[in-house]
Amino acid sequence: MNRPSSAPGAPTTDVVVVGAGPTGLTLAVDLVRRGVAVRVLDKRPEGFSVGTRGNGLQPRTLEVFDDLGVIGPILETAGAHPPLLVYVGRVPVFRKHAHRPVAPSPAVPYPSVVIQPQWRTERILRDRLTELGGKVDYGTEVTALTQNAGEVTTVTGSGETIRSRYLVGADGGRSVVRKTLRIGFAGETREDTRLVLGDVEVGGLRRDAWQVWVNPIRKQVRASVWPVPHSACFRFSAPITRDETPDLTLAGFQRLLRERTGRRGLTVTGLAAPSVYRVAIRLADRYRAGRVLIAGDAAHVHSPAGSQGLNTSVQDAYNLGWKLARVLSGAPESLLGTYEAERRPVARRALGLSTELLDGRKIEHDERTSQLDLSYRGGPLAAGARGGDRAPDAACATADGRRIRLFDVFRGPQPTLLCLGAGPVPGGVPAYRIGRDLLDDGGHIRAAYGETGYVLVRPDGHIGIDTSSVAELTGYLAGI
Ligand SMILES: Cc1cc2nc3c(=O)[nH]c(=O)nc-3n(C[C@H](O)[C@H](O)[C@H](O)COP(=O)(O)OP(=O)(O)OC[C@H]3O[C@@H](n4cnc5c(N)ncnc54)[C@H](O)[C@@H]3O)c2cc1C
Repeated sequence: MNRPSSAPGAPTTDVVVVGAGPTGLTLAVDLVRRGVAVRVLDKRPEGFSVGTRGNGLQPRTLEVFDDLGVIGPILETAGAHPPLLVYVGRVPVFRKHAHRPVAPSPAVPYPSVVIQPQWRTERILRDRLTELGGKVDYGTEVTALTQNAGEVTTVTGSGETIRSRYLVGADGGRSVVRKTLRIGFAGETREDTRLVLGDVEVGGLRRDAWQVWVNPIRKQVRASVWPVPHSACFRFSAPITRDETPDLTLAGFQRLLRERTGRRGLTVTGLAAPSVYRVAIRLADRYRAGRVLIAGDAAHVHSPAGSQGLNTSVQDAYNLGWKLARVLSGAPESLLGTYEAERRPVARRALGLSTELLDGRKIEHDERTSQLDLSYRGGPLAAGARGGDRAPDAACATADGRRIRLFDVFRGPQPTLLCLGAGPVPGGVPAYRIGRDLLDDGGHIRAAYGETGYVLVRPDGHIGIDTSSVAELTGYLAGI
């Protein structure tokens, strides 16, 4: 790992990441694999379980996890989205499979949402961080931070002072970093939408469906139970009124589960991560102040409907990682400004989508919820007709005939240039001439990217520029 200069007065690390939830861990993995010196600080004790929380991983997030080298353990331990089974009392009244697994296509290798509890996603990302030589400093709360033109100074609860060139607040919805920067967090908290949540071990419940108990007269959900894949647990949730004070003990969960499902014989034998969750829908006014940036729930909080929160958070980190690394290696500071310009509109869209779903508006689970259609078109880094779009995968072969995918070529911290026509191959970026370095025998690359010109794929898997001009391409590369 590169170490920043140890000259007197120099910062002690490149980047401080506050928070080791999905956002902080994704960012840390991305930065460490790029050789950036990172301190990851989290106030919670080591081994603390966050519970199932954000448990739907969308197709676009799976592509990010492929690039970061964790897709194997993620898919091995994930489950398919279960069918919905609705009960009135003990009687099943409705069954629907809204998320049937879809077969992969050449352009979309992970087309289906998968179910993975957040605690396990975090564990897999943490293991990857350790494998790359990084670590999380648990039990380390950030209590204050200041910055000047050259560095950020972070103070922890134990009185340690850390100086860094940048700091990223990935410290969740109640972000101390955001509050310290006095960044507004406009929106609403729905005091009347409160849920008791917890991971329960309970015998006698089926594991092949997401079961929901409803009151058809009041048109209300009474309880919901999700089987957590590859575990003995279920994620239990039950709405409560504004005035109810829930009993968050094991006995309290058993009482609530029995009462809401009408199954008096159910016995809860284990309980983890009990909490009361209030839906908040908020978006930060800014994502950056000087050398400090915010990402994930620190920048936007959503309703859980549509599984957009964790996914949008992971992708914030993925958008920011390569930009921070490039600026630390000498790219123009303006590159960091593109983070907010690209990601804030995405968060605004996710907020709208999850709020529409929460309010009962019917939205098909499609490219919008899967986040495969997310594009930075029209943004500061988009050039050419498809600049900003997600770069599709394609089945292809190496020059010696080995079957691979384009995502194998994109994988890693570098940008990738696809040269589709017969023009010269510019230097300075890993480049592949289609038909020579990559064989497109199935025609999938040309179907996705066209027949001529150049397509530069950014390190985060979005098209930077597509152009037929070498001069335009060179100018673009200089900017990033
Ligand atoms: C109870 C609950 C249920 C949820 N259910 C769903 C769901 O069903 N579907 C969905 O998509 N999303 C859900 N979410 C949202 C989802 O969990 C978040 O979108 C996701 O966790 C965001 O990740 P993050 O890393 O940005 O923040 P977090 O996961 O909140 O991580 C922030 C981290 O920062 C640390 N931290 C905070 N302050 C400090 C400090 N001062 N110093 C050091 N460390 C600090 C915390 O300990 C924590 O580990 C739920 C959230 C909650 C709270």
